[in-house]
Amino acid sequence: MITANNPALVTWVPVPENSDFPIQNIPFGIVDINGTKVAATRIGDTAVNLSVLFESGIFEGILKYNCFAEETLNSFLKLNKQTWRAVRNRISEVFTNEMDEDLKSQCLFSINNVQMCMPIQVGDYTDFYSSRQHAYNVGCMFRDPNNALLPNWLHIPVGYHGRASSIILSETPIHRPKGQQLPLGSNEPVFGPCKLLDFELEMAFITGEGKPLGDSISTSEADDYIFGMVIFNDWSARDIQKWEYVPLGPFLAKNFASSISPWIVTLDALEPFRCKGEEQEPEVLPYLKYKGNKNIDINLEVQITCADFDAHTVSKSNYKYMYWNMTQQLAHHSVNGCDIHAGDMMASGTISGNDESAYGSMLELSWKGTKPLTMPDGSERKFIQDGDTVIMKAHSKKDSVRVGFGEVSTKVLPAK
Ligand code: MN
Repeated sequence: MITANNPALVTWVPVPENSDFPIQNIPFGIVDINGTKVAATRIGDTAVNLSVLFESGIFEGILKYNCFAEETLNSFLKLNKQTWRAVRNRISEVFTNEMDEDLKSQCLFSINNVQMCMPIQVGDYTDFYSSRQHAYNVGCMFRDPNNALLPNWLHIPVGYHGRASSIILSETPIHRPKGQQLPLGSNEPVFGPCKLLDFELEMAFITGEGKPLGDSISTSEADDYIFGMVIFNDWSARDIQKWEYVPLGPFLAKNFASSISPWIVTLDALEPFRCKGEEQEPEVLPYLKYKGNKNIDINLEVQITCADFDAHTVSKSNYKYMYWNMTQQLAHHSVNGCDIHAGDMMASGTISGNDESAYGSMLELSWKGTKPLTMPDGSERKFIQDGDTVIMKAHSKKDSVRVGFGEVSTKVLPAK
């Protein structure tokens, strides 16, 4: 039972109206409190030191040792779904009942007085390509509208192995990448700062410990191996990508940075927002079939801001537009025996909705630069400029309960 999801629960911790972090969320993250990194959860604008809660005996019978005293959540992720669920339920119980003042003073911190840190050490990173509209748009631009989807796309959750080392936390600025590009009309590449810097609006899921090498995780088992999700901005250098990607796919156009939001929202917390996915036609192979509602209704938003104007919304999409869901992605990823580990990160691919207000990249929003977006100060954007900050937000809402992710915000600095 996921008792922590009860919409009727009320906590004594103040929760501002429209907060992404009501008592029904209970996300997990790592905070730096006066130079010490510990695991934390967040209620409203209050960070809760979970290591202190452990030492107070609150997780007795659930956790054997204080994995919350560690600098990442990886050890916690090595446990299992039952334990994650029991811990979250216990936290919910603790903050909907009375707590002694002494413990309060030790475990509660204003979110403004802690520094957010990378929640996990990312083991392996995989990026899928699972939004049909995005794949269609890219196919239209770079190939042919009549054959926009490649023949494999409706049969395989297409993906590639990315790079874990450059996955960075929200608020970490990035430098414009440099690399080879092939100027239009030229046969010779040039080297220099990327001119077509783009974001990709994605969500990523983070796994627990999978099965031994050689074993597979089925679609019916997949949810048990998924701990939670973050917002994922998969930075992309379109000009570098276009020149380098044949025949082995993305490389330097993708591995210079991907930014994540700091709080991992558990799959349990997202259960109330499950919804049906698109009917898959043609029929998928048996190992990709699934039962139940496996998509999730998560509202997504992208904003651009810079010194000259306040945050300006350029896209509103939704995670529910995914053609391939997480259980299919994980089942596909492991069907050949590939082993999955605690702290692996798997991103959705750019999530584009059905019309141009819902496209998840500048490539699509400006249609390859042919339709520039006008910003509040009258300036135009085809792609992202130096000095721009890209902000992505995500939240689910049903009836009175809103469970959100906060945001991932990244400033682009000039090339080094
Ligand atoms: Mn991507």
